[in-house]
Amino acid sequence: MARIVMKFGGTSVADIERIRNVARHVRREVLAGHQVAVVVSAMAGQTNRLIEWVREAADKSAAAGAPAAGKKAAIKKKAAKTAPAPEAGRPAMAAAAGNTAASALFQPYDRQEYDAVVASGEQVTAGLLALVLQALGLDARSWAGWQLPIITNNAHGAARIVSMEAGALARSLERGQVAVIAGFQGVTEDGRTSTLGRGGSDTSAVAVAAAIKADRCDIYTDVDGIYTTDPRLEPKARRLSRIAFEEMLEMASLGAKVMQVRSVELAMVHKVRTVVRCSFDPPDSPEQGDFANPPGTLICDEEEILEQQVVTGIAFARDEAQISLRRLADRPGVSAAIFGPLAEAGVNVDMIVQNVSEDADRVDMTFTVPQVDLQKAVKVLQHHRKAIGYDVLQSEAELAKVSVIGIGMRSHAGVAATAFKALAAKGINIRAITTSEIKISILIDSAYTELAVRSLHGIYGLDKI
Ligand code: ADP
Ligand code: ASP
Ligand code: MG
Repeated sequence: MARIVMKFGGTSVADIERIRNVARHVRREVLAGHQVAVVVSAMAGQTNRLIEWVREAADKSAAAGAPAAGKKAAIKKKAAKTAPAPEAGRPAMAAAAGNTAASALFQPYDRQEYDAVVASGEQVTAGLLALVLQALGLDARSWAGWQLPIITNNAHGAARIVSMEAGALARSLERGQVAVIAGFQGVTEDGRTSTLGRGGSDTSAVAVAAAIKADRCDIYTDVDGIYTTDPRLEPKARRLSRIAFEEMLEMASLGAKVMQVRSVELAMVHKVRTVVRCSFDPPDSPEQGDFANPPGTLICDEEEILEQQVVTGIAFARDEAQISLRRLADRPGVSAAIFGPLAEAGVNVDMIVQNVSEDADRVDMTFTVPQVDLQKAVKVLQHHRKAIGYDVLQSEAELAKVSVIGIGMRSHAGVAATAFKALAAKGINIRAITTSEIKISILIDSAYTELAVRSLHGIYGLDKI
């Protein structure tokens, strides 16, 4: 008898028929005698839909639009009675973002209510799966984040789990009940619903697995494991039977959305044996229930990987943008003046390159930000122009970051040179490079993403593993 956490992503629970298929995977494990906690995502597309509704509902210009005559006065009166003060609810987000002038410039909507809305998607799936499991004759009960509870900090929209009470959950598992947990959500210490950021159900699953000391955490998705690169882009991508935590962490952080970054961090810290596998595989075929050797990719310690490749995979992130500040004064504090306000506004800065400008006492600073944050970043920098003291601000969108990852790089020279040669042979211009012990990231024009990924995939022989 083992304790297993099974997580099912959005496409795996897209409709009732797929939820029935998921229930059959769960039944297989229950019939094998295991204690099972299931973590579910919202049905495919549902979170996006909910986010769109939040945007529409929070749109101030639409809210201020003239309603039909006659209705106007009544609406106004009602609003005055029921609506909170316009900025109420903001403090949590402002505090999370630093509550400075820069962050105050960009507060699109109340994050607490965003969480109240988007967390609902997972609750629907949890209830539906519990019902289907009951219809199959299994004892099952749904759990929302607050019912466990999973306690998070109050960074609404991207909250981090701070603790989890696993007692009630463990008792229900011991009674033989299947626990169906709504992923992606938790509750803050002051009792508000929170969510863990996009892809957060992976993190819920690993956190539950760590808390109940599960023997394994199975992440069921629409691919049958972790591939050498996204198989949607490179059909020659190969499935890896094992990948080291550190490599998976880099893959996830550098764009492979197959697992949320935080979930890999948690799995690494708590040594959770995590397997990525496919929910569309027939639930009752014998290999599916092979406990010692489940199908899919095992994420594990590097010592468990016998034949270590130099390069394990290629990740990519489209939608990057680049900002250059020209002719900055070359003095202490200039980087802080640039990146401090950007951090306070919640802009994630990535590759940073500083070079000497034509003027000896001046420098140019170039860095990347996610494309969605470009406008925000430019506004912040313009707002702080005096304090920073730059001459010209240039920006460019539609860039991509392609990364080569492998722990074997630690002990092999020449990996970067091979990448540069491969890209040069295809005429792809490199705009910036960053490296760490186990990865090389290269910034290029987005139009060349596919060509670059395929060339790198080929040059390191990843299609032949
Ligand atoms: P879920 O809804 O189950 O959470 P996601 O869409 O978040 O699923 O993640 C699965 C997707 O991740 C796959 O469909 C695949 O296109 C993508 N992906 C990106 N990089 C990789 C990779 N290296 N290996 C496998 N899948 C990858
Ligand atoms: N439903 C959430 C999202 O789409 C969480 C998840 O699927 O992991 O981001
Ligand atoms: Mg996901």
